[in-house]
Amino acid sequence: MVIAENVKSVKERIAAAAERCDRSADEICLVAATKMNSAERLRQAIAAGVTVCGENRVQELVEKWEQGAYEGAALHFIGHLQKNKVKYVVGRCELIQSVDSIELLSAINAQAEKLGICQQVLLEVNIASEESKSGFSSSELPVVLASAGNFTHVFIRGLMAIPPISIIKGQNRPYFAAMKQLFIDIQTKKYDNVSMDFLSMGMSGDFEDAIAEGSNMVRVGSAIFGARDYSKT
Ligand SMILES: *Cc1c(COP(=O)(O)O)cnc(C)c1O
Repeated sequence: MVIAENVKSVKERIAAAAERCDRSADEICLVAATKMNSAERLRQAIAAGVTVCGENRVQELVEKWEQGAYEGAALHFIGHLQKNKVKYVVGRCELIQSVDSIELLSAINAQAEKLGICQQVLLEVNIASEESKSGFSSSELPVVLASAGNFTHVFIRGLMAIPPISIIKGQNRPYFAAMKQLFIDIQTKKYDNVSMDFLSMGMSGDFEDAIAEGSNMVRVGSAIFGARDYSKT
């Protein structure tokens, strides 16, 4: 059972990273990034102690949802979400981590209102200002946060970032540190429908660095499920 062993080892690494900065492992949420993994593999991960699954693609989410793949775990959405697909995600996902435009926030709000629920979300920040990535720039954040009061059916619970793939150890630490600073700055301000509780950053290649810089939510895929096979897509 390779997946079960990997879950155990990732949890141990999270705990060790937390301990190194005098934090408790309990305050760090492990989100298993499940893209391209089958329902059966998700079930193995959940049986091994994964409590949150993070899905990237709406179609995969719907398919696996119908197969009961997420039973026993909470579900987060972590990929780029198109406005016309919010209906498949709102209500099903406890947290939509990847809100990258006001238009998307508005569409999520409208769908949540229709369902009579409040949808929790994170704002995605393009912290490395990468052309290829979506997300708000840090200078756009205050405007978005100030408008959150208009969206009565969403609740902004924090920030999420996907910095460049970490090739050199420690390379993303400045980005993680910048995110933590934004997070703290926002915490000191008062915005309606906003509560800075989750700072989602760190993936297989750099989650220990992210924790060292203050992450409390890591999204780990390949360190749990093994390398993804893109040749089949
Ligand atoms: C795939 C993915 C991850 C996990 O990546 P790994 O490097 O496999 O750990 C984390 N966050 C997002 C948004 C992803 O798409």
